[in-house]
This record gives sequence, structure tokens and C-alpha cells, in this order.
Amino acid sequence: MSVYETYKKSFWGPTIAWKRLFTKPVTIKIPKVYREAAERYRGFHINDLELCSGCSTCSKICPTDAIKMVPVDTEVEVGKKAQRPAIDYGRCSFCAMCVDICTTGSLKMTREYIHVSDDPNTFFFIPDETGIHQQEIHQGYQRDEDSELLDLERVEMTEIPAEERINSFIEYVKGYSKEQAISEAARCVDCELCVDACPANMDIPRYIESVFNNDTAKGVDWIYKTNPLPGVCGRVCTHKCETVCSIGHRGEAVAIRWLKRYIMDQESEEDIIRHARENIVKKGTGKIAIVGAGPSGLAAAYYLSLMGYDVTIFEAKNLPGGVMRYGIPRYRLPDEALDKDINVIKALGVKIKCNTSVGKDITLNELKEKHDAVFIGTGFTLGRSSEIQGSDHKDVLLALPLLEKIRNYLRNPEESRKPPVPDSLLVIGGGNVAMDVARSIVRLQRLEGKEANVKITSLESMEELPADLEEIVEGREEGIQFFPSRGPKEVVIENGKVKGLKTVACTRVFDEKGQFNPIFDESNVMLIDGEMIVEAIGQAPDYAYLPDELKNKLEFIKGRLIVNEKGQTSIEWLFAGGDIVSGPDIIHGVADGHKAAVGIDEFLNREEE
Ligand SMILES: Cc1cc2nc3c(=O)[nH]c(=O)nc-3n(C[C@H](O)[C@H](O)[C@H](O)COP(=O)(O)OP(=O)(O)OC[C@H]3O[C@@H](n4cnc5c(N)ncnc54)[C@H](O)[C@@H]3O)c2cc1C
Ligand code: SF4
Ligand code: SF4
Ligand code: SF4
Repeated sequence: MSVYETYKKSFWGPTIAWKRLFTKPVTIKIPKVYREAAERYRGFHINDLELCSGCSTCSKICPTDAIKMVPVDTEVEVGKKAQRPAIDYGRCSFCAMCVDICTTGSLKMTREYIHVSDDPNTFFFIPDETGIHQQEIHQGYQRDEDSELLDLERVEMTEIPAEERINSFIEYVKGYSKEQAISEAARCVDCELCVDACPANMDIPRYIESVFNNDTAKGVDWIYKTNPLPGVCGRVCTHKCETVCSIGHRGEAVAIRWLKRYIMDQESEEDIIRHARENIVKKGTGKIAIVGAGPSGLAAAYYLSLMGYDVTIFEAKNLPGGVMRYGIPRYRLPDEALDKDINVIKALGVKIKCNTSVGKDITLNELKEKHDAVFIGTGFTLGRSSEIQGSDHKDVLLALPLLEKIRNYLRNPEESRKPPVPDSLLVIGGGNVAMDVARSIVRLQRLEGKEANVKITSLESMEELPADLEEIVEGREEGIQFFPSRGPKEVVIENGKVKGLKTVACTRVFDEKGQFNPIFDESNVMLIDGEMIVEAIGQAPDYAYLPDELKNKLEFIKGRLIVNEKGQTSIEWLFAGGDIVSGPDIIHGVADGHKAAVGIDEFLNREEE
């Protein structure tokens, strides 16, 4: 007899079910005796909604599609999405993979296993800390070492060891190999939390995916959509994206910056140029002048030329790049990486007129007469001095001119003036610029066969130092000594020579409102030795190129220009970006330049009223 025949409908079919009427049911509505579930029981979920970042990794892994991300009314903050997982217990198989992969560790299971309701909607809910019944929670299954689904450890980057790297200005971060890059890319869970944290909103998960798929050419395409300085950013970006990376909640953030560098290092300049040319989108007809070949000016130029505009950058120095060329030391950013990025921009037809200082060699008004719009990205080019007694001594220097001298000398020793290499140096300042000066001078001392003797003093305590942690750690490895929580009082000069810096204790840098408002203990005095002192306490803009009649029409706040969301100043043909607008880093400059390029295009194509 076939299976069909066994079950084929009969006249008595509908009544067959009645014979089950008096048999004991297999399922029961509510057990008569409630039994406490085992400790690692996989009952209903709980979720710490404050800790949960809304990354949706739980939802992506769920094999039964039981988790939906639903919008929640929460304050939007960088590194979190305004959504939380809701679980459908009609689908959930209690496999706990969501708990095993939860990036923050907020999602757990309870020992609760009974839920009786006639309303099917109650079986689909957003778990919070009180669970499905808002009662005392008995925690059930939790992830352990064996069930960890994330790879929490970063693939280590190869670096030249400190004792070796201080003998030269060679780039000490070596970059990932193909195997290392693919392993690192595999750690990404594609949650996109990093995208909002990146000022340029780079599509990070997509270019990381391209590394994983061993398709770096595609990665280049993704990267150039929002960043035409990727070789630079792959090395020295402040990588704010990594501070919000999901994996960083319980482990080490994905090395987003190094993966970008990996992609760019795989592709030749010619291939990148070919890719860039494929992206030319339309034929604009205007002429645009850009003042300053720093990150913001170069980014604006790139995107404007993609739109078909005739772009000329006017740059005061003899090479383009701004701080990337004259500030950031070569051991972090070699000229070759910067040149590769700039060559792509030039290949699109962008003209760069170096040795042309706007305000001296050509006026801003002249630029306006010859162009349809002007973008200014002139940066913070002036160093700041503490102006304490003795700071006008010839051996008390400002950070920026010294760094520029060092880079020029290393680039072209025959034709540049040699930077001073003191037996002992004291740097005032606790930021990355101070670290750049200190680490550069250590290298120069070693190259001259001297002992490394560099000190840094700062108002901030070691915990408060604004410099990146990796800079502090690496600086220490290179022999730099720190004198934190000290305020500079006077440069001590003996027999016409700098002997050191008289300092007093700084007991507080910021007040209760977080404002810079230092307090000193004048009775606690210390002399810190150093035959040369460098002040690295901040930079300022130089607006000397702005004629008064234009300056009066512009709006400033704390020395920075106010622009609208398209980078346009209160003078309609004048756009601005970079440090003079936002700062504090390269990627903000890139984002500003891109935004302004779109703004200029809209301005030139606006419908006249
Ligand atoms: C020592 C140092 C280290 C830094 N390290 C990092 C880092 O590791 N990572 C990071 O992200 N950021 C870093 N920064 C910050 C970063 O470099 C800046 O935020 C960024 O370069 C600002 O870009 P910008 O477009 O404003 O132009 P800038 O880089 O400031 O360049 C401005 C350009 O305009 C030119 N210019 C100025 N006036 C005129 C004029 N009148 N006519 C013609 N040209 C003119 C200048 O010569 C210069 O080339 C560092 C800054 C310093 C000082
Ligand atoms: S326990 Fe398993 S089936 Fe249930 S929601 Fe989590 S991942 Fe999905
Ligand atoms: S994986 Fe964890 S942090 Fe991410 S949405 Fe799910 S519960 Fe929240
Ligand atoms: S890099 Fe980190 S934050 Fe960005 S998508 Fe990957 S896991 Fe998420």
C-alpha cells in the first residue's frame, strides 16, 4: 500500500480526531509544579539597552531569522544606532548564537521558559534588562571562551623596534601582508557603526570586504568615493572610526586605518589614476581657484575636477601637501606616499602653482576676477608662543618652523639649511605636535652619534595628555622623558645660553565645566634642563591675505570661519574648509573639501531668481 493510500481521505476522516479526545495531552498549558531551570538554560533573552549599540550583528547571525532590528526613541550618538533587537519567539530556536556573537555583551539569556498568552504579539518583543515578564531575572546561558564567535585580537602590525628605528627616519610601520590583511578584514562584522564616526563618512565595511575578497582594485573605488588622500590617511589618520568599532567593545577594534593603507599599497599609481578617470561624472564649465594645497584644498580640487571644472591650486610653499609635507615627520608619512596621492589628483588635470603666496604674489580679488568661485584652505600656519620671560631667546623655537626645516633637510640635505641638533632638548606641550618634535630630534641626535636626550613637559598629567596613546608609548620606547603637570614659568638663561625651563606645579588644567582654566602651585618649583626649548602649544591661522573689505563681511568664531553646510562663507563665491573652518585633522579637511566641491557645483549651477 502506498503512503498516499494510507492517508487518502475517507468519509470518516473528519471524525478520526475525536478518538484523541480522552488521551493525555503531550503539551501542557502551565506545569503544575514549576521547576527552576538549569543554570545554563537557554530561556528568553534579556538585553542591556544602554550597553547595546544597535549594531545588528545578532540579527545578521540568527539562523532562524528571529531577530528584527526595530527603531527606538533614543538619543543618537556616534557609535550607536537608534535601533535595538526584537525577538520573535515563534521563530527562535534558542541556539544562543546571538548571545555568543553580541559585540557588546549586552544580550544574554535567562532561565525563564514559560510564557502563556493568547496574544501572539507578546511573543515578539524588544528584550530589556527585565526580560519578557518584567520580574526578577535568573540569568541563564552566557557565552564562554569556547563559544566566542568574534575574533577579538587584532592582527599585529610589524614595526621596526625602537632601538633600531631611532637611528633613521625610515617609516617604522611596515604594513600588512596579504595574509595578515585578509585575517584582519575577517574580523569585521559589517555593522557600519564606524561610517558615522568617520568625518568623511567613508564606506569602511565595503572596502574592508574588498580586502577579504582579495579585490583591492574594488577597494580603491570605494575609498575614492569619499577620500582622495587614502595613502596618507592609511598611515596617519587620527582613526576616530576605530574608537567606535563594535569589536572594540570586548576586544581590539578592527585596524581600519591599516587596512586602508594595505589597499593603497597594493595598487599602482597608474591603476589608481585609471580608476579615478573612470569616475569623471560630468562636464562642468567653470574655473575654480583654490588657495592652499593642504588636505582640504586637494580634496576640493579632486572632486571639482571629477565634475569637470578647471581647477588651479595656489600654494605658497615650493611643494604641495600643507602640513602633510611640512609638519608630519617622515618616519610616519614618507614623501612617496603623499606624492602618490597627489599625483592622482594632478592626473585629473588639477594645476598646482607652487611658490605663489596669495596676498603677496596675487591678491584674492584678482583670483575672484579670473575664476567663478574660490576655495580657501590655508590652515593654521602660525605657531603660538607662551611668551614667558626668555622665550625670545634664539634657542627657543616654535614647533612648526622646526619640523619644516627637518623635513626640508631630509628631503634635500645639499640645498637646505641643517636643523639645529642640541645635546639636550625640552619640548613644551602635550599633544601630537610635541611628540613629533621630540621623536624627530631623538632621531637627529642619534644620526649625529649623540645620546638621545629629549624631555617633554606639559600642563596635563600623563592620563590627560592630548597626544595619542600610541605616540606616548612609542615615544617612551624611544627614550623620551616626560615631566607632566608642570606649567612653564621662565626660560633660564646663563651666560647667554639656555640652561632650562623653570616650571611650577600645575594642579588642575580644566575646570568643572571642562574649560581650559589651569591652576598652579607657585611654591612647587622645578628646573627642567635643556639647552634648546621648543614650544609646541598650538597653531593659529594667518588671514593676512584677506583684504579688509572681505574680512569685514566674513564671520568668525574663535578664529575659525563660519560656513554653511556646503562650505560656503557669507561671501557667496568664497568657500572654505580645513583647519580654518573645523580641524583638527586631515580627514576633517578632506570632508570639508568634498563638501565644498559639491557646494561650489551647486552654486555655479543655481537657477538665477
Ligand atoms: C606637526 C603636525 C602633525 C600633525 N599630525 C597629524 C596626523 O598625524 N594626522 C592628522 O590627521 N592630522 C595631523 N595634523 C593636523 C593636520 O595636519 C591638519 O589638520 C590638516 O593638515 C589641515 O588641513 P588644511 O586643509 O587646513 O591645510 P594645511 O595642511 O594646514 O595646509 C594649508 C596650506 O595652505 C598654504 N597657504 C597658507 N596661506 C596661503 C596663502 N596665503 N597663499 C597660498 N597658500 C597658502 C600653506 O602653505 C599650506 O600648504 C598635524 C598637524 C601638525 C601641525
Ligand atoms: S537564540 Fe538563536 S534562533 Fe533565537 S534569536 Fe538568538 S540566534 Fe536567533
Ligand atoms: S549584537 Fe549585541 S550590541 Fe549588537 S544589536 Fe545585538 S544585542 Fe545589541
Ligand atoms: S570596522 Fe568595526 S565598526 Fe566598522 S563595520 Fe567593521 S566591525 Fe563594524
